[in-house]
Amino acid sequence: MKKIDLHCHTTASDGIKTPSEIIDCALSCEVEVLAITDHDTIGGIAEAVEYASLIENFTLVKGIEFSIDFPGGSFHLLGLNIDHNNKPLIDKTLHLQNVRDRRVYHIIDDLAKHNIFIPVEDVFLESKGGAAGRPHVARAMVRHGYARDINEVFQKFLIKGKPGYVSKEKTPLAEAVSLIKGAGGIAVIAHPVSLNFRDFGVFESLLRGFIDQGLAGIEVYSSMHKDSEVQKFLDLAKRYNLAVTGGSDYHGGRNESLGYYQPDKPVPFELFEELILRF
Ligand code: AMP
Ligand code: ZN
Ligand code: FE
Ligand code: FE
Repeated sequence: MKKIDLHCHTTASDGIKTPSEIIDCALSCEVEVLAITDHDTIGGIAEAVEYASLIENFTLVKGIEFSIDFPGGSFHLLGLNIDHNNKPLIDKTLHLQNVRDRRVYHIIDDLAKHNIFIPVEDVFLESKGGAAGRPHVARAMVRHGYARDINEVFQKFLIKGKPGYVSKEKTPLAEAVSLIKGAGGIAVIAHPVSLNFRDFGVFESLLRGFIDQGLAGIEVYSSMHKDSEVQKFLDLAKRYNLAVTGGSDYHGGRNESLGYYQPDKPVPFELFEELILRF
């Protein structure tokens, strides 16, 4: 059965697989439409475009996932169907990459104050020139024996109030939307439950504000969503005429699978028919 996945990460940000490897992985599990949506970067898109051009019956959706400035929970915004040669988008992502690299040095300094010594080169070895972040620091910490695995790192370190926490520069919603639209894409709120809203009434009023700023879609099918939430987001998408998307948020881990938003639930392929009309 052919599948679709509109949210995944490569080595250009904090994924394990290169863009070519993730496309191979998609093909081997019948994912015929795949969006690559790396954190704050489009650095993996050129390789993906070139590799995908050799393949029949496969659609690559060029994407990005911005971290948005938002009080409270975390607001991630997907830009789907963007032009990766768009100058303002390139400039912004290069800026964000610089900021991320500088943040890594601050994280390393803070860890050292707590007697945790990680050579900064080891972090950049993990990020392989891509958008560096906490997952790369975490992997280096595991290698150096400061934790058994990444999960343990994210319990003891790198989070608010723990050694190695350094906040990250985030992009205002209006700016991210304008960059995405300027590059020909549509702006979709990723896994909206991560906003940590109190109830769906609160979410609906937030959503209205986001729509006023140009939000055009909701990632309804997300591994962070329970069935009851999927249904509620679907209803809201219909009510406000928003695009419906879905994806695995695959990073290359062992218990993740492309094309599925829950272990036994594929993202409905049919959503692509309506989505493509908005591209
Ligand atoms: P950053 O963008 O550098 O702040 O890192 C955020 C990324 O860290 C997320 O996209 C996840 O991939 C990863 N991350 C955050 N929290 C956890 C966690 N508890 N366990 C594993 N990975 C996490
Ligand atoms: Zn990630
Ligand atoms: Fe996200
Ligand atoms: Fe993601």
